[in-house]
Amino acid sequence: MVISKEQSMERPHSHNYFQKAKALMPGGVNSPVRAFKAVGDDPIVVTRAKGDRLYDADGNRYIDYCMSWGPMILGHGNIKVLNALRKAIRGGTSFGTLCPNEIRLAELILEAYPSIELVRMVSSGTEATMSAVRAARAYTKKDKIVKFEGGYHGHSDQFLIKAGSGLTTLGTPSSPGVPEAFAATTLTLPYNDFKAAQKLITEQYKEIAAIIVEPVAGNIGVVVPEKGFLEMLRELTLKHGIVLIFDEVITGFRISLSGAQGAMNIKPDMTTLGKIIGGGLPVGAYGGRKDIMQLISPEGPVYQAGTLSGNPVAMAAGIATIKEIKSRPLFYKDLEKKTEHLVYGLKDAARLAGMKITINSTASLFTPFFTDKPVTDLSSAMKSDTKQYAQFFHRMFEKGVYLPPSQFEAHFVSMAHTPHDIDRTIKYAYEAFKKL
Ligand SMILES: *Cc1c(COP(=O)(O)O)cnc(C)c1O
Repeated sequence: MVISKEQSMERPHSHNYFQKAKALMPGGVNSPVRAFKAVGDDPIVVTRAKGDRLYDADGNRYIDYCMSWGPMILGHGNIKVLNALRKAIRGGTSFGTLCPNEIRLAELILEAYPSIELVRMVSSGTEATMSAVRAARAYTKKDKIVKFEGGYHGHSDQFLIKAGSGLTTLGTPSSPGVPEAFAATTLTLPYNDFKAAQKLITEQYKEIAAIIVEPVAGNIGVVVPEKGFLEMLRELTLKHGIVLIFDEVITGFRISLSGAQGAMNIKPDMTTLGKIIGGGLPVGAYGGRKDIMQLISPEGPVYQAGTLSGNPVAMAAGIATIKEIKSRPLFYKDLEKKTEHLVYGLKDAARLAGMKITINSTASLFTPFFTDKPVTDLSSAMKSDTKQYAQFFHRMFEKGVYLPPSQFEAHFVSMAHTPHDIDRTIKYAYEAFKKL
């Protein structure tokens, strides 16, 4: 989409950076959705972030609802996290040995997640999910896995089948480079479809090692599971000897301290974490039942390793983030209130502007869909008018509000979002809706 000169902010430095980046990196970015392809225009080039604000290379500032795609639940540049990082760095940045910080973060994770009896740190959510599946396959001695359409579990081969966000945005059903034989081991189901899940599992359980699911879907935009859906998956997997993996890379320490599983009181066999547990540094983790996790090398035969796994600096950011959350008894209540205020405000703004939209939200996550129908799975999410989303994105961007540059993403509210900025967001949204 092309925006006219007088509407656009001045962004000459960003433009120059992007031109240079394109000559150096595929598409000029190191992760696809950052390139703004779904909304058009040059991408944002950020030089600094603080609180709920991003500052670009041209000195424009934005109220941020992307929040680095989820990790920054305390906001950007939180002082406690920065202090913990300074302290950690003074002691050295990587040892390649066991260090106290990884033990401390493991302790914090096990305390918050009773389903996790042993945990392994890795450096990304992608590593966490692919390693969890490997463990599940070894444990069950079965090969196939089940995932949900639009579910995103990182970019390892086996998950790039009807995967969400970046791939949905670009309209790629799966990726070239993934051998058909790998794709054949991944079965997919529509999210929230009780009957389809029941049928597939009861018919093919003898071959299914694991079911991996986002307990709140976040990569088709936010979609909340229907009442009883995850409970049904839990029941069927227990009955049929299938490992149930909750991918809580977004929802972990986000929906509640104990993630979606704590809020919904469901105990998966394995859990994958990322984003918030790294407090803005590259961290992932997977863990679960002792009898499964004991298979991981060196305790067991399932190989998985990492040069920078459990990195002392990255661990320090995660520890400081979780400690800060725990130090405020009303943390999640307050964050949810902020989000409710914003979401109600946006719904009101849309109604007053005569727009029929659907906003899905839970805890501090939300997504506006440009459809008047409920969004409960990938196909209903795809009914959203993505051109309208792109226009909405641009109108907000011009006012200094940075939304995720794609329809199929979660929007994140942090503890650093001020009432003033939230009210301004609602006001700008009203003006944007009126012009759509
Ligand atoms: C972000 C994400 C991942 C992948 O994590 P990376 O750190 O980007 O590799 C996996 N699962 C879910 C649910 C995610 O949102």
